[in-house]
Amino acid sequence: MNRLLAIRFSEPRNRQMRKELEQKMFERWPQWFNPKGDVRHTRMSFGFQHEDGWFDILWRLSGDLEPLAAEFEQTTGRHLEVLQVKEKFGGLRIHMNLTTDAIRQRLLAAQLESFLTCEVCGHPGQRRECGWIKTLCDLHTGARDREPKELE
Ligand SMILES: [Zn+2]
Repeated sequence: MNRLLAIRFSEPRNRQMRKELEQKMFERWPQWFNPKGDVRHTRMSFGFQHEDGWFDILWRLSGDLEPLAAEFEQTTGRHLEVLQVKEKFGGLRIHMNLTTDAIRQRLLAAQLESFLTCEVCGHPGQRRECGWIKTLCDLHTGARDREPKELE
């Protein structure tokens, strides 16, 4: 492995949404998130494991899930919970304890949207592969490419 690659692979990655944005989500939909829960049951104690740029996607998604979740809970008497929210292969991954076709569809739409949205800033982006896979806009791809070179 050459030096540039070594630096890229070891580059620290910010995998956490800002606390104030997390708090907005927790306060708006407290019924779905249990940030103090046991990690054997929920990973929400780790917070949202992606950068700030996907906040809007999450916010709109959660608003759209409200009626779907209410219908599900009324008919089944079971409680929906979000167990994990993270970045994987450049896209937004959300795990819930239970799901329906309608909910799965909406989660998939959010994931597709994340593949076109810069994870850092929320502007239009695309999936980039350069040691890691991440969905970024041109600006943030450029910023990341420059960092290792400046070290040399
Ligand atoms: Zn960006």
